Amino acid sequence: MAKIILTGDRPTGRLHVGHYVGSLKRRVELQNSGEFDEIYIMIADAQALTDNMDNPEKVRQNIIEVALDYLACGLDPEKSVLFIQSQIPQLCEMTFYYMDLVTVSRLQRNPTVKSEIQMRNFEASIPVGFFTYPISQAADITAFKATTVPVGEDQAPMIEQTREIVHKFNSIYGETLVTPDILLPDNKACLRLPGIDGKAKMSKSLGNCIYLSDSEEEIKKKIMSMFTDPNHLRVEDPGNVEGNPVFIYLDAFCRDEHFEKYLPDYKNLDELKAHYTRGGLGDVKVKRFLNNVLQDELRPIRERRQEFAKDIPAVYKILEEGSRKAEAKAAQTLAEMKRAMKINYFEDRELIEEQAKRFGGES
Ligand code: ATP
Ligand code: MG
Repeated sequence: MAKIILTGDRPTGRLHVGHYVGSLKRRVELQNSGEFDEIYIMIADAQALTDNMDNPEKVRQNIIEVALDYLACGLDPEKSVLFIQSQIPQLCEMTFYYMDLVTVSRLQRNPTVKSEIQMRNFEASIPVGFFTYPISQAADITAFKATTVPVGEDQAPMIEQTREIVHKFNSIYGETLVTPDILLPDNKACLRLPGIDGKAKMSKSLGNCIYLSDSEEEIKKKIMSMFTDPNHLRVEDPGNVEGNPVFIYLDAFCRDEHFEKYLPDYKNLDELKAHYTRGGLGDVKVKRFLNNVLQDELRPIRERRQEFAKDIPAVYKILEEGSRKAEAKAAQTLAEMKRAMKINYFEDRELIEEQAKRFGGES
């Protein structure tokens, strides 16, 4: 069976280092591994509108920001199909049919949607489109027959929901859709990177992000202002590395070479953590080190982004061509689905003949 990737991001802002470690970096590695037959990367504008319906300009502006972030990180249009969700009408059709296979109470149980509803104060009146976005996400994944979905941990309930829809569809209508697997980051710190404010998730909607396109000064300012262990008041106090975002970011980004280069008193992160835990190591020193590590990782991304930004029409062209390719694939899957669901009346010679016989006429 072909190995196919589908994943994407909502164009609700520029991409941040949480996206990078949670999904984006992995996608580029998978792309370059040559192990996958097809790779689809989607800018989920239709999904972004489910909670930004009154702000279409925000979604429109951020399409190009996300596309630039993709190219800057190394997604290559020669190897990956980069496309825009709203340009693939088949996804809406599939969503409509999948709605028959999911109950309201099943949607209400989705923990990610539950917390997102709370975050957006939607409790009193949830837009139907937002409530049902896990179903539309199942269409996104299955339209491309994706086997592998590289995403952060917050997406696990969506993949589970998709798998249920696939099983139900195939068991009613016959083997048609492919069951996808989630691919989570190997590094635990990358599953759900916290925000610089210490909140559980770095998220565009929470405004606690370090963006891939932030300038050197912005990155430094954000790191120096980061939340750490609130009980680590004086340098000599013992500190806590658990749940301390500065150390979680180091877990996500730093390698032993960084110590050699920037902090040669320590061999590795374990030694630095041990010193912090015992006391005698100040937050400022750790933050300066983290700043050096992150600057090294983000500098080349920022520079490539500036290069791609010099030819914006070419970036739109990439998205247009990608959308065309994605639509062709989705159309193929939808045709198979319709055949399986017996709603392919006009291509079904057998049906026409059978009906003609039933009514006693000629076919
Ligand atoms: P929004 O607040 O608009 O939902 P978001 O920051 O949650 O934005 P998404 O576009 O919803 O970003 O997520 C895109 C991808 O990035 C998903 O695979 C998601 O799992 C991953 N991701 C987002 N935030 C993080 C994070 N803090 N840590 C790890 N992965 C993340
Ligand atoms: Mg999100």
